[in-house]
Amino acid sequence: MSTSKREPRVVIVGAGMSGIAMGVAMKRAGFENFVILEKGSDVGGTWYWNHYPGLSCDVPSQLYQYSFHLKPDWERVFATQDEILAYHREVVDRFGLKDHLRLDTEVTQAQWSGEEWSVEANGQTKRADFVVMATGVLHHPNVPDIPGLEDFEGTTLHSARWDDEVGFAGKRVAVIGTGSTGVQIVSAMQPVAEQVTLFTRSPQWVLWGPTEMRQPELVSALLRRVPLLNRLVFESLLKASWLFTDVVTRPSWRRRLLQAFARRRMDSIRDEDLRARLTPAYEPLCKRQVVSGPFLRAIQEPNVEVVTEAIDHVGANGVVTADAKAREFDLIALATGFEAHNYMRPMNLVGRDGLTIEEAWRDGPRAYRMMAIPGFPNLFSILGPNSPVGSLPLHHAAELSASYIVRWLERFARGEIRSVEVTEEASDEFNAQAAKALGPTVWNTGCNSWYQRADGTIDLWPFNRATMKRMLGEPDDTHFHLGITAR
Ligand code: NAP
Repeated sequence: MSTSKREPRVVIVGAGMSGIAMGVAMKRAGFENFVILEKGSDVGGTWYWNHYPGLSCDVPSQLYQYSFHLKPDWERVFATQDEILAYHREVVDRFGLKDHLRLDTEVTQAQWSGEEWSVEANGQTKRADFVVMATGVLHHPNVPDIPGLEDFEGTTLHSARWDDEVGFAGKRVAVIGTGSTGVQIVSAMQPVAEQVTLFTRSPQWVLWGPTEMRQPELVSALLRRVPLLNRLVFESLLKASWLFTDVVTRPSWRRRLLQAFARRRMDSIRDEDLRARLTPAYEPLCKRQVVSGPFLRAIQEPNVEVVTEAIDHVGANGVVTADAKAREFDLIALATGFEAHNYMRPMNLVGRDGLTIEEAWRDGPRAYRMMAIPGFPNLFSILGPNSPVGSLPLHHAAELSASYIVRWLERFARGEIRSVEVTEEASDEFNAQAAKALGPTVWNTGCNSWYQRADGTIDLWPFNRATMKRMLGEPDDTHFHLGITAR
């Protein structure tokens, strides 16, 4: 039995890396009936929202790109925020996504009627056969609950909502937080600010990497001239990325070697007291690994102080630590990370039989293979729960997810299905597999990190790339309730 053939109406929420991957996948499959709703004023997602001083990617540029649009001439081996943002804008232009894009459009509600989705944004309702949530992982700034923070009379900025008009040259700056962000901010500010004080609650291992190295002109020219070579470099790097997945997911001599390298790196801190205070008590790679060329040098410059004493409160002029020491500042930079498990919220998402996402995720976000949630028919997420933020190239994961979704859209267009909803059993089975595979990962070796959900379980992809390709290859019909009712 089949229903009538027609192109599905699709709403994609978010024009970051995942939403763009989805839009391109639809275009390439010949689908035109879709919109991409984006609450920001530009595309780029995290690369649009984040523009703090020193922001660059700590994944090599040649890997941090789509397979369908390989850029040969990255300026830096680890690209800066503005270059990555420009790259994503270029993809949007090149693949004709502009006409599908609605910027400054925030989705506040999406509801399944039993037959279709009603998506509300900017006071208007859009009806769709499918909704693709491409809303990102690290989006909601985590503003720390430090007493008196609002009393500070200087400027306070969170890294993820930076104000480029606020300079830091010649200023006394407090940086709170020592994750990838805090490390980049300190490294960028140290040469220009009068004084940088880094407040570190838990120290981080810092792996050295050539994070400031330019891509040689000759390499760019060669890759531009010989597209085949450009493709070969990309494919080789993608293949080589197994090594990174391997060290984080399975104990081995390779993991121990990299950890020894991270430990050894601490020797570059000359002052014994500082080295002792900055040496973590947990294993390297357990938290999201920080990679930086300049950081350990920057913190040893005379205008930088690293404070490991706990912050007691913030006053009108600065920060007071638990030992009652007060330090004055002009600017406080909050590099305190994100509410990482807030996928899709605060949107009001209502699935089958009035089930809300809050009810479905009472015990924390769970999905089938990152993408499908029981109770939410014809809704898929890209880089949702268990996405491989700590272990695999994200553009690659987004592309695989997008083509998986397109397979369902094609079946809809052929009239084979009208609705698809993952079963509780398939979702439970995937989550049990993931929980088992997370056991031997390095993320589970006794540190606190944003990888952990409220109940302490880890929200990451613990499998290798081959498993991801298999899981996001041909959909398995036995894992879904398929509806074939004609509308
Ligand atoms: P993060 O890794 O979550 O680090 C937040 C920091 O703030 C931690 O040092 C944390 O200390 C500290 N902190 C939080 N609340 C605090 C409080 N109340 N008082 C004192 N300190 C507090 O956040 P992030 O550095 O923004 O990085 C988040 C993720 O974004 C990264 O892991 C990475 O995935 C991504 N990122 C990527 C790049 C890139 O180059 N690709 C760059 C930046 C960020 P504790 O450790 O004690 O909690």
